[in-house]
Amino acid sequence: HDEQAAAKAAAATADSGAPTIFDKIINKEIPSSIVYEDEKVLAFRDINPQAPVHVLVIPKLRNGLTELAKAEGRHGEILGQLLYAAKIVAEKEGILDGFRVVINSGPTACQSVYHLHLHVLGGRQMNWPPG
Ligand code: C5P
Repeated sequence: HDEQAAAKAAAATADSGAPTIFDKIINKEIPSSIVYEDEKVLAFRDINPQAPVHVLVIPKLRNGLTELAKAEGRHGEILGQLLYAAKIVAEKEGILDGFRVVINSGPTACQSVYHLHLHVLGGRQMNWPPG
């Protein structure tokens, strides 16, 4: 359907160098609602929230991490920092009792932005399995 077609189109243009909309968010060229920020990581509210809390956690430097499928050993430190930042976001948002962290990797998973991002979702009962 539509979402999958859009995801495939995004993947087709996602060569390692092409900038994404997240670069503009990182550079504050377009506004976002920032929840957490440090030297390496930025967390901001998703513009199309799928739960009362829906925050994206991204590395400020993409450094080849267009998608999780491109992760290499050299990315280990930032991957750990992103996951820890997801916990800090959950704590700040008051959802430590129950939250979900999702990474869509590749068109089959409906990834639409080719700059690695963790979705932090919560504030409602989450269901399983996800769609
Ligand atoms: O995992 P996926 O690549 O589909 O997630 C991208 C997410 O980025 C979407 O949830 C979308 O709503 C969000 N987004 C955003 N601000 C933009 C563009 C996309 O929050 N300007």
